[in-house]
Order: sequence, then C-alpha cells, then structure tokens
Amino acid sequence: MKISTRAGLAEIYERADIHSLPIDPLAAARSLGIKTVSYKIISEYYHITFEELYRKSLWGFSFLEGEFPVIALNESACGERRRRFTAAHELGHCVLGHLRGRNLESAEREANRFAADFLAPLCVIEQCGVRSVAGVARLCGISESAAEIRLRELRDGNFRRDSRISEQFSGFIVRYFQ
Ligand SMILES: [Zn+2]
Repeated sequence: MKISTRAGLAEIYERADIHSLPIDPLAAARSLGIKTVSYKIISEYYHITFEELYRKSLWGFSFLEGEFPVIALNESACGERRRRFTAAHELGHCVLGHLRGRNLESAEREANRFAADFLAPLCVIEQCGVRSVAGVARLCGISESAAEIRLRELRDGNFRRDSRISEQFSGFIVRYFQ
C-alpha cells in the first residue's frame, strides 16, 4: 500500500486497523506498507557496520528504498517504551512526507509531535477517564515523563476532539469501563 503524505491521524488509525491502546507502532507501520527492519538486517544487507549505524542514530532512522519507506530500528536499544517511541517517531517521518526532504529541525519536532499524538491520543485518554501519570503511561505504553506531558495537555484542553478517532476506539472505550 502506498501511503499518502500528511495523512491525518484518524486516517492512519483507520488504514492500520487500530482500535485499541496501547498501539503497536511496528504493526501499524507494516499495515501501512512500510517495511520495518532491525539494525542487524540493515548491517548485513547493506554491508554497514554497527558503528556506522550508531553514528547515524542510536535508536533508529527511516529512509526510502526506491519509492518505499523503510524503518530501521536498533533492536538492542534499551527500554521497550523508548523503542516504541522511536518506532512511532520514524513512522511519523514516513507518513508526514519527511523522507523526500532534508532532515530539518522542524521535521524532528513534527515527528516527535506525531509520536506523542499517535501513541497517546488525548480524546481516547479523556474518554477512558484516566487521569494519573502511571495510568496514562500504562494505558498508552509510554514513559511516565511522556505521560506527564500528555496529562498536562489534556488538562489544558487545547486539543482537537476528533469524532473519527473516538469512533475508531469506541469499542475499546466501552470495554475499558467494564
Ligand atoms: Zn527523526
């Protein structure tokens, strides 16, 4: 599947068939037709040493192989939550159309924003009624520091309540209260 650039979050959840939290960013990438590979595979396939890969990034990066986006992840990087965030961040680069452009600082900010929004959709957290840092971290599979930021954004109320996203997660939200 060819992915459109700058697809909205709701569209991505729909196309990747995501209906519940925590979100598996690698499974989502694969559903969107994005290849995901480990550093070991990249190293063998492209004859690149691990040192060169680590110099590029300790966690992961993404690139175009011909027309097709590929996410490379350091499978030995510590922390499951860190790896999930990296995968979501790289997915952001792929779906936001960053792979064709230069690696600008704004692209990094946008990919971080995407990862936070993608892994921890505020309208779903709000509807699940979770209001503690530990609760949000557990619900979304994100770090406590990331959860703290999300909770602050939730309290500020300065976010878009997307009915398509609420619809997409409606079954999960209902089950959450059972
Ligand atoms: Zn990046």
